[in-house]
Amino acid sequence: MKKAAPYITGILVVIILTLLAYRSAPRRSPDDPLPLRGGNERDNRAIGEIDLEKLYPGLVLRSAKGPEKIVALTFDDGPDRVYTPKVLDILKEKGVKATFFLIGSRVEEDPEIAKRIADEGHAIGNHTYSHPKLTKASPLLAEELRKTREALEKLGLGDNGFFRPPYGAAEPSLVEQAADLGYRVAMWSVDSLDWRGLSKTEVVRNVEGYVQPGSVILQHSAGGPGEDLSGSVLAVAEIIDILTAQGYRFVTLPEMFPASEKCTEPK
Ligand SMILES: [Zn+2]
Repeated sequence: MKKAAPYITGILVVIILTLLAYRSAPRRSPDDPLPLRGGNERDNRAIGEIDLEKLYPGLVLRSAKGPEKIVALTFDDGPDRVYTPKVLDILKEKGVKATFFLIGSRVEEDPEIAKRIADEGHAIGNHTYSHPKLTKASPLLAEELRKTREALEKLGLGDNGFFRPPYGAAEPSLVEQAADLGYRVAMWSVDSLDWRGLSKTEVVRNVEGYVQPGSVILQHSAGGPGEDLSGSVLAVAEIIDILTAQGYRFVTLPEMFPASEKCTEPK
């Protein structure tokens, strides 16, 4: 028994230290975004080399084809309480409808903001539940899409059958699995690169000049921990003004890619 005493003392010390460390761990403020499972955008950005749009016409969507001067604003990674409401304020003021690719865990965290997005006439797409980096087909994808769809359904909302892969990372097997699950993969054709914490001027510059009839523009309405999107938010109003002056009309992705085009045969 005497020999066991130091061990018991040691174990008690470890337990006490663990409890103390847990108590002093920093708490997340309600304004901080939920961490992204796959890490922040800047750590993971990888656009596939393969032209998936050509391989899967009608299933992988990057832009609308045709001469009509339409353009779609899309915002990823929301909802949050910091940037998403500001983006919504600007869109409301300008009378423009956009598409938001929401993360399911964040929908559960900020259901009121998710509802506001739909109430104000914007479209919602599925951006997974925890934002993992998934390039290939995986049982996790089905789970991630289902959990987000359920989080939206609880609020009486839907995802329109649009899925945008986190980090734009996608390979053929992932596209095929998403299609089997009833989703079209919504990519983009104009990247604002706003996740780099760019200024308003830089974000506007990355968009203006690259837009063509049918472009899908990518911005974010929330970031990973520590990401600053204030420049991107400020750019929204200017992008709308510039493109409106050029004769563009803003549409949501369900308007740009109606469901009847879903089964387009390869050309
Ligand atoms: Zn994302």
